[in-house]
Amino acid sequence: MEFKQSRILVTGGTRGIGRAIVEAFAHRGAQVAFTYRSSVEVADGLKGEIGGLAFQCDAADFQAADQVVAGVVKAWGGVDILVNNAGITRDNLMMRMSEADWDQVIDANLKSVFNYSKAVCRTMIRQRYGRIINISSVIGRTGNAGQANYAASKAGIVGFSKSLAKELAVRGVTVNVVAPGFVETDMTDAINPKVKEKLLSTIPVRRTAVPEEIAAPVLFLASRDASYITGQILGVDGGLSM
Ligand code: NAD
Repeated sequence: MEFKQSRILVTGGTRGIGRAIVEAFAHRGAQVAFTYRSSVEVADGLKGEIGGLAFQCDAADFQAADQVVAGVVKAWGGVDILVNNAGITRDNLMMRMSEADWDQVIDANLKSVFNYSKAVCRTMIRQRYGRIINISSVIGRTGNAGQANYAASKAGIVGFSKSLAKELAVRGVTVNVVAPGFVETDMTDAINPKVKEKLLSTIPVRRTAVPEEIAAPVLFLASRDASYITGQILGVDGGLSM
């Protein structure tokens, strides 16, 4: 897959799945912009590596999303592909889940998807071309004890994406969801080894994914080959959601 003339924006691009997506597009010739929250040094390194654009901001900030998209449009004249990847967990059983745990997860995981989709949609409609790919999770389908906030945010992404797909289909813009299973990143590093082992036994392929295995289907959905696919949820979970 070639992305030579493509202008890409990825939220949360400095590590894990987001970084794998940024690098995969860049290695295929795309112009890639990414957002990040805190790690200036890492972001500078990645920006140098890919020769793209980096924006430090909180993905939950509505106005910042508009400024980021305006910056990309100013530099490159448009945005062809948006990948909403930024996300966090604040796990706790309901009895112990605070209002802040709830708000932070909904804001970082779901409001961010609204912020960036809204910010790019005018440009994409004008171009009569665009691809929006939102990163949900297998947990959005199945739920998980201790992750009511996270599951709600990830299920919310599904309803949001299907609605937006229906609004934008006639304008040449597709909207799809990738729902990863268990991927080796900083996010899953924190999981207790015993819980991990138990989790592994429930995955039909009996292993976790590496971030590049999530980037590959994202690239497919972002490609011109996926022109007739919209409003879909692609599970990339080693069979976990079967
Ligand atoms: P990660 O913690 O390694 O990386 C998340 C990235 O998002 C980081 O770069 C972080 O700085 C950024 N980010 C978080 N909140 C942000 C905010 N408010 N503003 C800007 N940037 C922000 O996690 P990951 O595993 O690479 O996760 C990437 C996405 O994939 C997330 O949406 C996550 O929910 C989803 N996901 C991950 C797994 C997994 O097993 N790792 C499974 C399913 C879905």
